[in-house]
Amino acid sequence: MTSEQLQGRRVVITGGASGIGMVTAEAFVQAGCRVVVIDRDKRALQQAVEALGPTTAGITADVSDPASIHDAFLGVDRALGGVDVLIANAGISVRRRFLEISSEEWRRVIATNLDGVFFCAQEAGLRMMKGEGGVLLLMGSTNGLVGYPYYASYNASKAGVIELTRSLSIELAPKVRVNAICPGYVMTPMQEREYTPAMLEKVNGTIPLRRHARPEEIAHLFLFLASDRARYIHGQALVIDGGELAGGLASAGVTGDEST
Ligand code: NDP
Repeated sequence: MTSEQLQGRRVVITGGASGIGMVTAEAFVQAGCRVVVIDRDKRALQQAVEALGPTTAGITADVSDPASIHDAFLGVDRALGGVDVLIANAGISVRRRFLEISSEEWRRVIATNLDGVFFCAQEAGLRMMKGEGGVLLLMGSTNGLVGYPYYASYNASKAGVIELTRSLSIELAPKVRVNAICPGYVMTPMQEREYTPAMLEKVNGTIPLRRHARPEEIAHLFLFLASDRARYIHGQALVIDGGELAGGLASAGVTGDEST
């Protein structure tokens, strides 16, 4: 659908050595894009780039460090000569009760998920504004839209990404289009690390579509939003959650009326 429209676009994906980022990198390569994957995990990055093939380059960088991001984008300049699409996807989560979150954990989550998105968007945005424009796609989450227990730092970081999206969409328009994606539960290594099989089953039971998203379903939304078919979608936080948020308690099958 979108491949001919994205052919030749220069795409930068952070956190592209695993999970959603890796599957998204595959999707953009298949659509004919030139892709640079940025990740801190050197070995996983090397494997991903080898699997993705010759139109892809990998740059090892830590998105929680603005200097590392700056250097990474100098590498992007050398590899691609600019950026048409940024997918600021790298992120981490720490499952911990609010009262037990340490200052180190709080700073690490905010530095990765919010500072990382901020500085990558700034580096890419500078290049897009000087050049022909482009598309910024920032990784939010349903956790940035409603409250969830045990993820206060993560939730705050994602709410920040959503507000950042709205602010950038005003400052950088009309040259640069900016949107956030807010997935619900997606089956990736991040999720597998934190949820036991019993927890996964319980969560699936509360999602109207009764399952986690597959990473490729998130990748398809990124493809669409990067394409010109989405040219009037701007400043939005697009939810892709199998209906998780649609009806509040009712989405989870709690109606308060046993006869229904
Ligand atoms: P994964 O852990 O599978 O992949 C994330 C990748 O980002 C990993 O390769 C990771 O490296 C890398 N990364 C982490 N921190 C940094 C850093 N400081 N600098 C560079 N790279 C880094 O996670 P997912 O694919 O599940 O998540 C991707 C994004 O999607 C995240 O922003 C997450 O918050 C968001 N999201 C995920 C959902 C889910 O249910 N899975 C739901 C909603 C949003 P390493 O392995 O070393 O950590």
